[in-house]
Amino acid sequence: MALMTGEQYVESMKKMNLQVYMFGKKIECPAEDPILRPSMNSVKMTYDLAQMPEYQDLMTVVSPYTGERINRFTHIHQSTQDLMNKVKMQRLCGQKTAACFQRCVGMDSFNAEFSVTYDTDKKYGTHYHENFMNFLKYVQERDLTVDGAMTDPKGDRGLAPHAQQDPDLYLHVVERRADGIVVRGAKAHQTGFINSHEVIVMPTISMGEDDKDYAVSFACPTDAKGIFMIVGRQSCDTRKMEGAPMDTGNPTFGGTEALVIFDNVFIPNDRIFMDGEYEFAGSLVERFAGYHRQSYGGCKVGVGDVLIGAAAVAADYNGCPKASHVKDKIIEMQHLNETLFACGIACSALGTQTESGNFIINLLLANVCKQNVTRFPYEIVRLAEDIAGGLMVTAPSEKDLKDPKLGPYVDKYLRGVGVVSTENRLKILRLIENLSLGTAAVGYRTESMHGAGSPQAQRIMISRQGNLGMKKKLAKAIAHIEE
Ligand code: SF4
Ligand code: FE
Repeated sequence: MALMTGEQYVESMKKMNLQVYMFGKKIECPAEDPILRPSMNSVKMTYDLAQMPEYQDLMTVVSPYTGERINRFTHIHQSTQDLMNKVKMQRLCGQKTAACFQRCVGMDSFNAEFSVTYDTDKKYGTHYHENFMNFLKYVQERDLTVDGAMTDPKGDRGLAPHAQQDPDLYLHVVERRADGIVVRGAKAHQTGFINSHEVIVMPTISMGEDDKDYAVSFACPTDAKGIFMIVGRQSCDTRKMEGAPMDTGNPTFGGTEALVIFDNVFIPNDRIFMDGEYEFAGSLVERFAGYHRQSYGGCKVGVGDVLIGAAAVAADYNGCPKASHVKDKIIEMQHLNETLFACGIACSALGTQTESGNFIINLLLANVCKQNVTRFPYEIVRLAEDIAGGLMVTAPSEKDLKDPKLGPYVDKYLRGVGVVSTENRLKILRLIENLSLGTAAVGYRTESMHGAGSPQAQRIMISRQGNLGMKKKLAKAIAHIEE
């Protein structure tokens, strides 16, 4: 079964024994919880699209390792064309869900682990690459969703992992046994953990010799003994429990983040990809972050397409699609969105082959891509709110619209152009609210800031990769300066 259907994916998740907590209670079946189910639907879309003939080339690829057709979300990039197809696939998934579809972190960790385990084995004669390849084939053959967990809680940001007052603020090895290791710690802001079969855990920063026990990477099932999740709150999350789908803005799709606790979790030897090789922690972080910063040039652009469309529909329903300032604002939104896409494509097109054989993005351009993502979606949201008008945040609820006594008044006074129902007008405004302030704002606006690393992380990489010395030489040559 190299490709699962969306339904098979949902059934496979229902069989897992996930330990999920929300509002202080254990959630017995996340797949049936009204707050959590929309996030599962977003991942399901990565399976549904792969079944559609028109998207087969983008969503699937033949694996060079299993010989079977697999979902691109489990693929190791074999060319710069593969890197570009990845970004296009993410844009498509963003367009179809208007949410975070979560499966990219696994794909990005596969590609980072592929080359880093190879490099580590080359230096130390370890067997991490073989471990990783066996895990990858296991994932590809079963079409699994895999989360990538990097971000530790980090405690005092001024202290290294080993120097923290509480040693668990970075995930670390607490016991080494003949058959494996035991780890303890937590990973924060985990998008998609709840909807994944497996997770790849990676260190979150470069490390020194004293941090050896923290330089650890492995894969394990998301329901392994000792793992539990505490779901994060989102603005307007409880609207999903009210039985009024219009008020959610996006009734079908969403994303979910969780704080994931690893409370003495056993990892068998054959699932370990790094254990103490601290010099490679930095490369793993840098490559994973690079791939994930490329990803944002796809997913956020797809969600941006929906937001731009929603703003244009709102203008139609308000009766002002021809106003020159409205037209110009929509052009500006498109210009910003396509600039992000151009960055995602550019860092892919200028990708290179690693010694291990897979392809990696151009790191400078991937960081420029994500740096732009920390800004442009904010401006796109600002323009969408401008076009939408204040009703987007003051409109009464769906229940008022449907109420026999109040409904006719809501319908009468909140109508825009006469031929469009008030219900449709409110639906599109709720969607804009959802993307800019509601549950999807986690995955669109604020995630654009902090996801795949906060802005300063990209600026550090830009300063490292920007080759300022070469630029100074250029200036001196042009100015005829001889020193
Ligand atoms: Fe994928 Fe974007 Fe979500 Fe990251 S934020 S997992 S790149 S959809
Ligand atoms: Fe993200």
